[in-house]
Amino acid sequence: MDDTFSQMRARLEADKKFFEQQECAEKASVPADVGQVGMKDRFSYLMPIPDDMWIKCPSCQGVMLREDFEENHSVCLNCGHCFRVNARERIAMTADEGSFEELWETLFGKDPISFPRYGHRLSKLQEKTGMTEAVIVGKAAIGGYPCMIGAMDSNFLMGSMGSAVGEKITRLFEEATKAKLPVVLFSASGGARMQEGIVSLMQMAKTSAAVERHHRAGLLYLSIMTDPTTGGVTASFASLGDIIITEPGTLIGFAGRRVIEGTIAQALPEDFQRAEFILKHGFMDMIIPRKEMKKALTEIIALHLKYSSVKNGAPSTGAGLPPLSEHRSKGSECLSIIRNRERPTLMEYLPMLFTDIYETHGDRSVGDDAAMFTGIGRLDGRPVTIIGHRKGKGLLENQACNFGMPHPEGYRKALRAMKQAEKFGRPVITFIDTPGAYCGVAAEERGQGEAIARNLLEMMPLTVPIISIVIGEGGSGGALGIAVCDELAMTSNAIYSVISPRGFASLIWKDPSRENEAADTAHITAYDLKDMKICNVILAEPESGAHSDPAEMASTMKQYLTATAERLCAAFEADPIAAMEARYQRFRQIGDCS
Ligand SMILES: [Zn+2]
Repeated sequence: MDDTFSQMRARLEADKKFFEQQECAEKASVPADVGQVGMKDRFSYLMPIPDDMWIKCPSCQGVMLREDFEENHSVCLNCGHCFRVNARERIAMTADEGSFEELWETLFGKDPISFPRYGHRLSKLQEKTGMTEAVIVGKAAIGGYPCMIGAMDSNFLMGSMGSAVGEKITRLFEEATKAKLPVVLFSASGGARMQEGIVSLMQMAKTSAAVERHHRAGLLYLSIMTDPTTGGVTASFASLGDIIITEPGTLIGFAGRRVIEGTIAQALPEDFQRAEFILKHGFMDMIIPRKEMKKALTEIIALHLKYSSVKNGAPSTGAGLPPLSEHRSKGSECLSIIRNRERPTLMEYLPMLFTDIYETHGDRSVGDDAAMFTGIGRLDGRPVTIIGHRKGKGLLENQACNFGMPHPEGYRKALRAMKQAEKFGRPVITFIDTPGAYCGVAAEERGQGEAIARNLLEMMPLTVPIISIVIGEGGSGGALGIAVCDELAMTSNAIYSVISPRGFASLIWKDPSRENEAADTAHITAYDLKDMKICNVILAEPESGAHSDPAEMASTMKQYLTATAERLCAAFEADPIAAMEARYQRFRQIGDCS
């Protein structure tokens, strides 16, 4: 496709040049009465290419065949720029063929502040666009799953929200709440509609209130912000999705770029208010290319369906797991094994443990912490929420994820994922592998202590099972901040401690070089923690450590997780109060006192 594309472009450029040269030559030699028609006839093969055959990309200036462009979901074949599509095109791309039933098609707003020529302008637009208002809503199926769907259209008064748009969106959520259906809503808007004055401002509160009732009914809302989503729509329903999705390059913001530049008297960076910027700052879950959107929406809806499969004869935890070796590693031995450069990280285990994985991003407050992974996926068919410390291989990867040391936004992102797990009845699986929560100025400014404390408080009464596995080092509050669980497993060389052995040696003996001695003294191995009834299960690592056979390690973990999720889900389903009391007692009994 690239070749065809660059050939086309080269041909067009060459033609244009040739045509200009010829034009100059003609002008010099042809009498003035020979007009443009004669020219075009002589060079008919150089005639401008009809617009209905070709598309020019405003982003990279490339030219492509309309047919190829349309086949590519109106995305530039060269640079991936997503062209704006209208509401009907958007629904056609998303809903299963023939499934869309439009609702409230003829619903009109009034002219609440008698704005000059507003009514006239609306009728003109209705004629031109074939739409009655800036949003189309209805019922449809996506990948076979019934849902309520809506799409805004920026061609209709910039997709602005007046009373009719607010009313249709509110009804969409109310109907979805009544019918117990998910909502999939594509926004594209300049914000509130000025021509309707204060009434349009109130639509922000009205739509948000309907979203809240839908949310309280435990139903899924997927908000897809498309280019552009700004102003009062960003500041209301569009930002309130359980999962917020966008396409690459989308403009998303509250205030307009020029307004901000004017206020602060500074030029803003190129990527300001683009999808990638919004994701980095914690307000977006995922950026999905347009041609993968439908598949992703289908899988995400499926991951939120109620899953009830208590398989008969599920093995009890521990049964059939590989046996532990005779050798009980000392702390210092564990330390050297978990520091092996080839030690598998969470990111390597994920595809071996789960399918249909969708990573979610952001704490909806200050940022997206790369040191904390959150996402949803399937464990042997069962939808689960996955949370864990992310480490990298090598310096660059590790710098990118801050060596697995989260900031407060990492813990807040994790909590957001847990609350969603609770809403949709999914068990939570957390993977512990951190030297500790990050110690730094920014972390303190944003409340590292509060963020960890909040998680300890909120995890305890979570109404879904929580299973944690220490896969490397479990350092301090940074580990516990995602490890208040019903059952804790550790791989056989993992460690879990109140402070890193190095920190221990330096605090107690004022000599960090004595860390091996500290590791052997501080009772930090899986065996030590099992003796202290803090760890429930030790998962055998392959002979010389998990790095020698990551697939085998993953298979052991998967076997353990599948059986444990099964057992705990059944317990929570049968008697949630007793199951939560057991979690409380698990921690309550730690710390013998006489
Ligand atoms: Zn392009």
